[in-house]
Amino acid sequence: MKKHNFYAGPSILSEYTLKNTADAIKDFAGTGLSILEISHRSKEFTAVIEEAAALVKELLEIPEGYHVLFLGGGASMQFCMVPYNLLNTKAGYLDTGTWASNAIKEARLFGDVDVVASSKDANYTFIPKDFTIPADADYFHFTTNNTIYGTEIRKDIDSPVPLVADMSSDIFSRPVDVSKYNIIYAGAQKNLAPAGVTIAIVKEDALGKVARAIPTMLDYRTHIKKGSMFNTPPVLPIFSALQTLKWYKELGGIKEMERRDLEKAARLYDEIDRNRLFVGTVKEEDRSIMNVCFVMKPEYAELEKEFIDFAGTKGIVGIKGHRSVGGFRASLYNALPLESVEVLINAMKEFENNH
Ligand SMILES: *Cc1c(COP(=O)(O)O)cnc(C)c1O
Repeated sequence: MKKHNFYAGPSILSEYTLKNTADAIKDFAGTGLSILEISHRSKEFTAVIEEAAALVKELLEIPEGYHVLFLGGGASMQFCMVPYNLLNTKAGYLDTGTWASNAIKEARLFGDVDVVASSKDANYTFIPKDFTIPADADYFHFTTNNTIYGTEIRKDIDSPVPLVADMSSDIFSRPVDVSKYNIIYAGAQKNLAPAGVTIAIVKEDALGKVARAIPTMLDYRTHIKKGSMFNTPPVLPIFSALQTLKWYKELGGIKEMERRDLEKAARLYDEIDRNRLFVGTVKEEDRSIMNVCFVMKPEYAELEKEFIDFAGTKGIVGIKGHRSVGGFRASLYNALPLESVEVLINAMKEFENNH
């Protein structure tokens, strides 16, 4: 049976990405060798990493003065790398969920952290809007999409200081004004590639301004200087990322991805709002178009497990909600086809008719 993959991460990859990756594992670029067994410094792989960086720049229309890096350590490593490199005295942070609060915890090791607002008391069901970013901060950090709670900030916040954003789960789902950011980072396993590589888009001018010594591997300048090849980079995820980036370009770029993502999300939220059995978990205006969180209405709470099993019979996988929210989470990343959303919607309708 065809599977419909709603996992939150690692998550669905395009067929184009999977096929080309599988092919390269057998024979990479006509070398007669697997991509898994050749030097990262070979001319064939160098071409891959250079093209991937160029395509990220092209798709996100990144201005001059920025570098695209491919790093290890996950988005979680960026939680400490950002303040290590940028936090001199004080930084502003917005607390919108688990990942944001993990980033705050790390930043506190390096200086004064002003948490301008938090929706923690409401289990992160909305994005705080009323806050003031301190004008004397070195930067302002926020999480654009809260993967676990299903809220999203789909704009580049107006700020008196440069922005830093964790875009792990919604990068490439909307155009971004990169010039407002000192750093954008994203673990690849949500909207780009298999786990193992993290993209960092870094403004060169923002670096070299902290007084502390920075360990070589945690210093963005090391990776800029060596073109992400200071040490062995995660070659296979980078190869897969390139395939996904080519696929995005082929389909019409980021605006087209956004159009598709908006349509998929609108269809699913419409059904959640219409259906007698289900209800969304977050404030409507803050709903994520990437991770759609919903639960059974209280009077139908006992049907939760039954719905997951029923959906399973339709080939739907990965819709169990994160343990901190419960219920269901349908992740609608770029590679998920509209058809899969339709299958989920039909399953919800059929389930409603059965009860
Ligand atoms: C998944 C996720 C992370 C953690 O990514 P790792 O690569 O596992 O460290 C951080 N931030 C957001 C928004 C995420 O969705």
